[in-house]
Amino acid sequence: MSTPAVVLNRKVTHRLLTGHLWVYSSEIERVEGAPVTGDVIAVRDGSGRTLAWGFYNSTSKITVRVLSRQERSFDEAFFRSRIADAIAYRDQVLPGHPARRLVSSEGDLLPGLIVDQYGDTVVVQCTTAGIDRRLTMIVGILQELVHPRVVIERNDLSVRGYEGLPHRRGVLVGDHTGPLRVRVGDVDFPCDPLDPHKTGLYLDQQVSWRQVASLVRPGMRVLDVFCHLGGFGVHAAKAGAGEVLAIDSAADSISGATQTAAWADVSERFATRCGNAFDVLKEFDSAGARYDLIVLDPPSFTRTRDAVEGAMRGYKEIHLRALRMLSPGGVLATFSCSHHISAHAFGEMVIDAAADAGRTLRREAIYGASPDHPVLAAVPESEYLKGFAYRVLDG
Ligand code: SAH
Repeated sequence: MSTPAVVLNRKVTHRLLTGHLWVYSSEIERVEGAPVTGDVIAVRDGSGRTLAWGFYNSTSKITVRVLSRQERSFDEAFFRSRIADAIAYRDQVLPGHPARRLVSSEGDLLPGLIVDQYGDTVVVQCTTAGIDRRLTMIVGILQELVHPRVVIERNDLSVRGYEGLPHRRGVLVGDHTGPLRVRVGDVDFPCDPLDPHKTGLYLDQQVSWRQVASLVRPGMRVLDVFCHLGGFGVHAAKAGAGEVLAIDSAADSISGATQTAAWADVSERFATRCGNAFDVLKEFDSAGARYDLIVLDPPSFTRTRDAVEGAMRGYKEIHLRALRMLSPGGVLATFSCSHHISAHAFGEMVIDAAADAGRTLRREAIYGASPDHPVLAAVPESEYLKGFAYRVLDG
C-alpha cells in the first residue's frame, strides 16, 4: 500500500520548493489514502511528484509540516538522530550553559517540538499533533541523551488549540520540588517551570543580556523596561551600573526580579516598579527623568498581521518617551519579538521616534535571539526577535 498523501492544487507554485516546511489546507486538492492526524504522509504536486514527507493534521490550517524532503523511516532512530543533532549544535554554540533551548521546532527540523533545559530539569512542549503523539518516545530519547533528573511537560500553550490538542501540564519523570535556581548568562534566576502564569525564562535573550551589559560604564543610571525576571537590569547592575530601575506590570515578574538581584548581590543598586510601562514612562518623561541606558523589551504587541498598525503606534510611543529621557551620549537598547514586524520596519519606527524627539542616533549594535533559537532560512516565521542599540549623539 502506498503512503497516504496530500496532493497540492495545480495552481500552487509551492514554497516547499524553496525550503519552507508548511502546507496550508487551502493549498490541497485532495487527500489520498486515509491518514490519521499525527501520521507522517507524503506531499505530492499535481503531476504526481513527491516533494516532501511530514506530519499530517486534518484539524489545523497548517495541514502538513515537513520533516524531510527524502523518503525515510520516520521511526525512533529518525527522531533520536534529529534530537541528537539539535543537542550537538547547542553544545557547540552555548557550551557549558546549564540553561538553553535544546530543541527549537522548525529551526531543528522538528516542527512542534520545543525542549528547554534548566540544569537537570528538562521542559517539553508539543505544538503539533505529530510530536504530541510521539511524546513518550521523545521523553525516552531525552532521558537517554540528556539524563535529566526531572522532565516536565508544559503542554498548556494556546497554540495547541489550533492543532486540536488538549491542554496538559505536569511532571513526567522524577520529582519536581518547587522553583529552581538556574544560572542563565552570568546570574541566577528563580524559575518554576510548572508555574501556570509563566513559561519559565526568556532564554532567547541570554546572549543579549551580556551584550547590552557590555555597554555599561561605572555609575550609569539604567532603566530596564518590561524586565520580567530582571535579565537586562541585573546584568547591568553586575557590570557596574550605579542604579537600575526595573519595570514590569506583573507582580510575579517584579518579585522574581527582586530575587534575581538579591542572588546577584546587587540589591542596593536595584529598584523595581510594578506598573504599566506606558503610564510609568509617561510619568517619568513628564517629570524630566534622565537615564544613561534604557532597555525596551516589550511582549509581542501583535499576534496577527492586522494588529501591526496599532502595535507600531505602541512601539513609537514608548520609543519617543525613552529617547527624550536619555542623557547625552546615552544608549537605547530596544527589542521586538513580533515576527509580523520586520527588522527594517522596526528600525524605521525608531528613526521616526528620534525625529519627533529631536535626537540624533547612531546605531551601534544589532541583536537577535540567542543561537539556541536558530532560524530556518526559508521559514520567516522561525525568526521573530530583533534588537538594536542606538547612542544619542550631540547632533
Ligand atoms: N526583558 C525580559 C523579557 C520581557 S518579556 C528578559 O530579558 O527576560 C515581556 C515582559 O513585559 C513580561 O514580563 C510582561 O509581564 C511584561 N509586560 C507586558 N505588558 C506590560 C506593560 N504594559 N507594562 C509593563 N510590563 C508589561
